Formats: sequence, C-alpha cells, structure tokens
Amino acid sequence: QAKRAGRARYAIFDAAMREQAVRSLDLEADLRRAINRRDFVPFYQPIVNLADGTVVGHEALLRWQHARRGLLTPADFIALGEESGLIEQVDWLLYEQVVRDLARGDSGYVSVNVSPRHFRSPDFAERLLGMLEDAGADPSRLRVEITEVALLDDAPRTLQILSTLRERGVLALLDDFGTGFSALSYLHRFPISGLKIDRSFVAGLDAGGRQESLALVRAILALAGTLGIETVGEGVETAEQRRILIELGCSFGQGYLVGRPQPRRVAA
Ligand code: C2E
Ligand code: MG
Ligand code: MG
Ligand code: MG
Repeated sequence: QAKRAGRARYAIFDAAMREQAVRSLDLEADLRRAINRRDFVPFYQPIVNLADGTVVGHEALLRWQHARRGLLTPADFIALGEESGLIEQVDWLLYEQVVRDLARGDSGYVSVNVSPRHFRSPDFAERLLGMLEDAGADPSRLRVEITEVALLDDAPRTLQILSTLRERGVLALLDDFGTGFSALSYLHRFPISGLKIDRSFVAGLDAGGRQESLALVRAILALAGTLGIETVGEGVETAEQRRILIELGCSFGQGYLVGRPQPRRVAA
C-alpha cells in the first residue's frame, strides 16, 4: 500500500520534471530536426513461443538517437509526437528501415506499432504495401500493432485500411489489450488476428492482488480462444509469470525474461 502510494507520487514528480525538461529544451524543434536528419532506429525485441522458447518474430520499437541527450525511448517524446502530428513522419522513417531489415532477414515476422493518427490517412495501407514491394519484402512477414483507440476513431476507414492490409497478408494485432475499451463487438467486426495482453496484467500474475490479474488474463484468453485468434503476453519478466501464462493457455510472449529490445534483429 505504502509502496504503491510512493510509486504514484514518484510518477507525478517525474511527469512534472519531464514537462519542464521538454519545455526548456524545445523538444519539438529537436524532433523536427531529428526527422530531417533521420535520427531514428528500430530496436527489436523477440517474441517467442512460451512453451519451447522458439522465436516466432520480433517487435520493432522506436528509438531516437538524440544528438546531445543520447538514446531516447518513446516515453520521452511520443506524447509530443502525437500532439504535434510529427509521429506520422517518425513512424514512416522507422517503417522504411524495418521493411529494409525485413527484406534482408531470413524468417519470422516483425511487428510495427501504428499510431492511431495513421488511420485518418486513407492511403496508409497502400503506402505501407508500396514500401514492402519496393524493398522486395514479403508482406506476410510484417504485422501491425494497433490500439483500441484506432478502432473507435473512424471505424469505417480503419476497417477499410485493415482489410486492405489483410488481403495482402499483413496481419493486425491489438496492442495493450485490456487497458482500453475492450468492447467485444469490434473484435469480430475488424480483421484482428491476435491480442497482446498488456504488461500490467502480466506483472500482476505473480504480485500482490494476483487474483484479479489471473481472472482478467483468463477472460482475455477465453475470448481469444472463442474467436480463434492468437495471444501474446507482454512484459514477461519472471519465470513464474511465464509458467502461469503457459498454464492459462497463452501461446506467445515477449519480455525481459526472454530478451530485451536490441539494435539489430537477431535472425529468427
Ligand atoms: P508497446 O507497443 O506496448 O511496447 C512494449 C513496451 O514494453 C516497449 O517499451 C518495451 O521496451 C517494453 N517492454 C518489453 N518487455 C518488457 C518487460 O519485460 N518489462 C518492462 N517493464 N517493459 C518491457 P518502449 O520501447 O519504451 O515503447 C513504449 C511504447 O511506445 C510502445 O508500447 C508503443 O506504444 C510506443 N511505440 C514504440 N515504438 C513505436 C513506433 O515505432 N511508433 C509508434 N507510433 N509508437 C511506438
Ligand atoms: Mg506494441
Ligand atoms: Mg504493447
Ligand atoms: Mg504497452
């Protein structure tokens, strides 16, 4: 209880400090400059079959190689990117590299995170597919990770984009599942091939108050089973979490236990 309160206070302090840092450094100007300089790289984190440890794919995670501040993670700039709309340009720069890496790699899939903003552009799917074609990469080896927000924003357009991608082999995964609205109706209305169970639930599996997390994860897995879609547990940090996920019937997982995000993709 005290630990939790302490953490919450720290989070507020941290947010305030971060905001101030952002203002004084004029991060937005930095971000624009970084886009021109293409100072972004994908880090790749392995996604494994939990039962036998086989690597089935990787998630590409955005990193900004800042000229003065070193390597920045999305927590440092994603909110600004979303607000300013610059995230779209950053994402395209990243996808370009991922697609290039994909064309060179041997096997397994790579998933990329897609900002909800992209679903406002009707040509998102064509542009992504064009990029894959230009690089000579197999579309069925790319997956897109979307959040529930994208499904609610402009449903008809999102449906059209996801359908176009699906037709050409690009599967869609629902990221951070359980943290958003988790409305059951959209799961069969949209072509979603998998759910990524949010890290907060996985962390709760072997922590205090585990009954709630167990119940939630069980419900998510039952839902996925009914729909016939796959499940990926996020943020698996302990052997105990992995054991419970396997026991509950979660097929895939990613997390520090298995591998941290790395600058170069290890061949799957
Ligand atoms: P996400 O898509 O849910 O990605 C998983 C995040 O959890 C990553 O943080 C990853 O480094 C972290 N993670 C993985 N395993 C563990 C673990 O065992 N323990 C803990 N504590 N964390 C773990 P990261 O790379 O900082 O990314 C944060 C978020 O930023 C992502 O969450 C995603 O929503 C967003 N993001 C990342 N890359 C991109 C991108 O290229 N474009 C867009 N638009 N958003 C991105
Ligand atoms: Mg993701
Ligand atoms: Mg996620
Ligand atoms: Mg997440």
